[in-house]
Amino acid sequence: MKKIAILGSTGSIGTQTLEVAKEQGDIDVTALAAGSNIRLLEEQIRQFCPKLAAVWNEEKAEQLRENIRDLDVRVVSGMEGLLEVAAMPGTEILVTAIVGMIGILPTIEAIKAGKNIALANKETLVTAGHIIRPLAKEYGVSVLPVDSEHSAIFQCLQGGQRSALHKILLTASGGPFRGMTREQLEHVRVEDALHHPNWSMGKKITIDSATMVNKGLEVIEAKWLFGVNVDRIQVVVQPQSIIHSMVEYEDGAVIAQLGTPDMKLPIQYALYYPQRRYLPGERLDFAAMTEITFQKPDMETFRGLKLAYEAGRMGGTLPTVLNAANERAVALFLDRKISFLQITEIIEACMERHKNIPDPTVKEILETEQEVYEFINRRYGC
Ligand code: NDP
Repeated sequence: MKKIAILGSTGSIGTQTLEVAKEQGDIDVTALAAGSNIRLLEEQIRQFCPKLAAVWNEEKAEQLRENIRDLDVRVVSGMEGLLEVAAMPGTEILVTAIVGMIGILPTIEAIKAGKNIALANKETLVTAGHIIRPLAKEYGVSVLPVDSEHSAIFQCLQGGQRSALHKILLTASGGPFRGMTREQLEHVRVEDALHHPNWSMGKKITIDSATMVNKGLEVIEAKWLFGVNVDRIQVVVQPQSIIHSMVEYEDGAVIAQLGTPDMKLPIQYALYYPQRRYLPGERLDFAAMTEITFQKPDMETFRGLKLAYEAGRMGGTLPTVLNAANERAVALFLDRKISFLQITEIIEACMERHKNIPDPTVKEILETEQEVYEFINRRYGC
């Protein structure tokens, strides 16, 4: 039995991880953590029988304790609770499927407890990659990518000579607004931005795909996962989302990973690596496939991608500013308080006013996050 714990079990990646566990039948779920959806968390607890569950809010945790008092499950709350889930004895792999920088401390805790990390929570690597990477090396644990593009890159690197890697070709669908001008983007609505052409994901990442900030975060994530600088990571728009990413070796050979858009493949690969298992579901049908096309990303219209390259190049606390400003701006957009284009305007304004701190500690990263939130709250009155 493989023993896993999940941070963010009630979200898009969390629920699909549990579907993989159910389909495979040889995964023991030791602990689960969620934000507030205690109804779904209770269903998951009854189905997968973990010994520990965490809910962010103490009141909701108390409610859950009451609802499952017939079971032998300990319910904890807050950051303490997340840290307990992360370091749960007996767990081999922690799936970080939580959204946001709240994932940093539990990821560090898990690494120190010797857990391998199946990493979906890209914000942790984007903002604290310089801490996570050496720490994982020091404790001899693996950080396995769950993000489909990074899983694709990881798969393309299997059997290849890492020192002969020339560049990474990170593919992007271009999102629902691919090909639009800034004028056209002025009046797009929340509903339009939430309508991703190929992938079904959580709300925040779906908006990030529409602005292409998600691709920018992925560039920085790839920098830390694969140890290459951002200028060796090229974003290629591949609208059909069939090629999940590629690597080019020194001799010019390009290796790609293709598949249907199904997050269960990278999740399952991370859980069983290096083993490949049968995965039910749709397969690519090359006879029915009409085309695979490529485009250059439009970084002037989708400025978020350009800003992410800048943050990735500079490092320090700048990626934290990018990430925190984006997180808050996306929330404001989803609340219909700002327009779509204002998301990247806010990110740019925050990055411009920030005095970068090189090689920040976790404390400095979290303080920077707070400063960005306070600035946005003051300026946009929320
Ligand atoms: P969702 O919004 O669907 O889920 C987020 C999860 O995090 C939920 O379970 C939520 O709980 C939980 N959560 C939020 N805040 C807290 C908290 N304070 N304490 C404990 N749990 C919390 O997000 P996704 O699954 O889409 O994304 C998760 C991560 O994976 C993100 O970093 C994203 O960028 C990345 N990712 C996602 C992909 C996808 O296909 N969805 C693809 C690649 C990467 P609750 O709902 O109960 O509040």
